[in-house]
Amino acid sequence: MPSLTPAQVLGGLERILGAEGLLTGIAPHSQTDLEPYLTDHRRLYHGHALAVALPRTVTQVMDLLAFCDRHRIGVVPQGGNTSYCGGATPDESGRQVVVSLSRLSRVRRLDPLDYSIVAEAGCVLADIQRAADDAQRLFPLSLGSEGTCQLGGNLSTNAGGVHVLRYGMMRDLVLGLEVALADGRLLSSLGTLRKDNTGYDMKSLFLGAEGTLGIITAASLKLFPKLRAFATAFAALPAPRAAVDLLARLRDASGDRVSSFELIPRIGVDLTTRHIPGVRDPLDTPYPWYVLCELTSPRAADPLEELLEASLAGALEEKLVLNAAVARDQRDRAAFWKLRETIPEAQRLDGGSLKHDISVPVASIPDFIERGSRWIADNVPEGRLVAYGHVGDGNLHFNLNQAPGADRAAFLAREEPVKRAIHELVKDFGGSFSAEHGIGRLNVGELERYAAPVELDLMRAVKRALDPNGILNPGKVLRSN
Ligand SMILES: Cc1cc2nc3c(=O)[nH]c(=O)nc-3n(C[C@H](O)[C@H](O)[C@H](O)COP(=O)(O)OP(=O)(O)OC[C@H]3O[C@@H](n4cnc5c(N)ncnc54)[C@H](O)[C@@H]3O)c2cc1C
Repeated sequence: MPSLTPAQVLGGLERILGAEGLLTGIAPHSQTDLEPYLTDHRRLYHGHALAVALPRTVTQVMDLLAFCDRHRIGVVPQGGNTSYCGGATPDESGRQVVVSLSRLSRVRRLDPLDYSIVAEAGCVLADIQRAADDAQRLFPLSLGSEGTCQLGGNLSTNAGGVHVLRYGMMRDLVLGLEVALADGRLLSSLGTLRKDNTGYDMKSLFLGAEGTLGIITAASLKLFPKLRAFATAFAALPAPRAAVDLLARLRDASGDRVSSFELIPRIGVDLTTRHIPGVRDPLDTPYPWYVLCELTSPRAADPLEELLEASLAGALEEKLVLNAAVARDQRDRAAFWKLRETIPEAQRLDGGSLKHDISVPVASIPDFIERGSRWIADNVPEGRLVAYGHVGDGNLHFNLNQAPGADRAAFLAREEPVKRAIHELVKDFGGSFSAEHGIGRLNVGELERYAAPVELDLMRAVKRALDPNGILNPGKVLRSN
């Protein structure tokens, strides 16, 4: 079939979406209207697009895909555009169509007795959390980007965040999915069954697929009892080994009611107090390492604060903990969390950074940090380590920021050798070079390097089966042919 001219493509898309459902660079729109959709959150990539589609209905998404498949037009699904690896950014050809799911944002159903919610892909994560809360339930996925990222993006990146320790990753919270396939058909499986062993679990394929196998239009999700008791502490530690030890003890002492356990280095406190208005060091004197730990329970009367204080007091005596502040009210709690959640923004404001979202077995975290820090100290004088993350998940954001006075360009030019050394170290520890941020465009080469050949073969076979014309998010996760 002869390929369509850009004007014909735009005409076809407008027939499907209506004029108000399509942004183009042509009057009455301008390139400025497209800009927010063309650059990734970290500003690593700046693409071009023929148009941005803003479907309002599932049928429009299906029709759009059928049209693009017929005419071999690349489609880039986009949610809140907070991807850390350029997953939602179009390429530079100007021929792809960005499909923003932001107008598909209805909560279709919430059933408190069934502990489930059915929501559309364009729902902002914080809105889903709020809907659950209003119904006296909890939707536990929680990330620093929750005010912007959308359910479709969370599903497609299998997002993690600060509650994985207790509730699992996004994948663990999904009961069913509705997905528009490349050829325009709809896979509709929005049931809320907890048990369903009828053949292959097709929904699993789309979770973490980063828009390369279909466009998710809705999902049915698990809810949990609303949390009514909280105890939160910001504890200073001598070293990461103490964090692993303290977490193991707290899990035991609390009957596994630890819902977050975040490791923070001193430099994390320095950067946030310097760059983020309103962030203060919760303790009077500096210490080398900290954890932000939180116990939670649905039972308001659970004496979590006593339990946490008793555990911390024991740990203080043994010098496992050097000092600690326990949140006395919601304001303290919010202040501790603000410090943790603004580390990425403070890093950005401080200058160039090199990011590595890695995971290793939980018990290996101290040795990994020790060996990684030593390598950086010996080999990257223009950088300094900012290693923080989710201890309970073995997940560290093992980042480097440019050292004071270092040349930004010279520092960023070290990206490849630094990444190689850190990812090789991760491999030595039996870990993953991308724990929660995915592959996107940034990590395609890393996947080729570290995935087993048989895994890559299977991934390519799945891609060919579901997207034979290669229109779905081309070049993300797997290289385009
Ligand atoms: C400050 C900050 C903190 C963060 N913290 C965390 C964290 O703790 N844990 C974590 O895991 N991530 C974190 N992230 C990364 C990011 O927020 C998450 O990956 C989030 O889940 C992405 O959602 P999004 O809607 O922004 O997706 P986008 O960036 O828009 O898209 C991400 C990928 O999903 C695809 N996609 C989007 N919508 C759909 C759809 N409906 N159907 C098919 N494919 C789709 C896109 O094509 C792309 O490949 C953080 C990001 C920021 C900026």
